Amino acid sequence: MQVKEIGEFNLIKRMANILGIPRRSVIAGIGDDVAVLYSPERKLLLVTTDMLVENVHFSISTATPYQIGWKSLAVNISDIASMGGEPTYAFVSIGLPRNTNVEFVDEFYTGMRDVATKYDVDIVGGDTVSSPEIIINISLLGEVEKENYILRSGAKYGDAICITGDVGGSSAGLEILQQKFSIEGTKKHLMPEPRVQEGRLLARSGFVTSMIDVSDGVSSEIYHICEQSKTGAYIYMKDIPLSPNVLSVAQHTNKNPYDFALYGGEDYELLFTCRPDKFQFLKDQVLRMCNMPITQIGKILDVSSLITIEDESGKTIPLESKGYDHFAL
Ligand code: ADP
Ligand code: MG
Repeated sequence: MQVKEIGEFNLIKRMANILGIPRRSVIAGIGDDVAVLYSPERKLLLVTTDMLVENVHFSISTATPYQIGWKSLAVNISDIASMGGEPTYAFVSIGLPRNTNVEFVDEFYTGMRDVATKYDVDIVGGDTVSSPEIIINISLLGEVEKENYILRSGAKYGDAICITGDVGGSSAGLEILQQKFSIEGTKKHLMPEPRVQEGRLLARSGFVTSMIDVSDGVSSEIYHICEQSKTGAYIYMKDIPLSPNVLSVAQHTNKNPYDFALYGGEDYELLFTCRPDKFQFLKDQVLRMCNMPITQIGKILDVSSLITIEDESGKTIPLESKGYDHFAL
């Protein structure tokens, strides 16, 4: 069955049915002209939005509608996590070709519902239009205590540069899908897990000076932190924690495994800086409370030291700033 056969209003009803009743109490959710929500008291309101276009951000040849739904919302949740916040309400605007199968929309909403449930998000509104290609825009609200938000701009000379989990796995996973390698490890690409609990813990510790989520690649995120904080950085390539699938994909494609981590992106780990004497404490806490390893991969230097990386042979070279850029040729 195609969406043109059931029409916009029936389609919205199906979406609302899949999403179910919001967990938070709302005055009005899906079904009225606007969502009417309680505003967080004595907290800061966080707002983020992301747009996804078919064949730019996702392809129905490599991801199921369920996975596309999961990832679309997960990447927004990751942005809230990178501020040290908690996600709350989401709005989903979707453009669909008239001949889109209703099953696609059902599965897409089921994927979004499941990631929303896991990370305590309520989807309370949106818009539905027809469009020549599938296009999805998600806006997500979140909240954070006034004293706990973390920006990109707080890194200081001498801070440790750290990362949660492992990196490179998403872009290695994309290679596996595109080149049809029979290698395990596409989950990080298809269904990323935003580090909300980790971000909350790090932000509330009081020892984290800057934070960002890894959407465009470790290199690009380090450049963002350094630019905003007006610092330089020194990275140890061998200390970057590579995802389990990276080595075999690098072998199959004849690439340097660290390129997946540095320039690949979409890992949705948290990259952050902290005072060096607090690293071990944070590492122990995040491991104990979230079962998540964190690794130090470098240190913040002053701005005149530029941004450099020590490669595997011990040679210091400038870190290339390339990462995913929509307008780059
Ligand atoms: P309006 O004509 O006021 O724009 P709509 O008919 O577009 O209202 O939407 C009706 C209700 O359904 C609104 O509450 C809106 O937020 C919600 N809604 C519409 N599209 C979506 C969607 N894709 N996902 C979630 N909620 C939606
Ligand atoms: Mg509308």
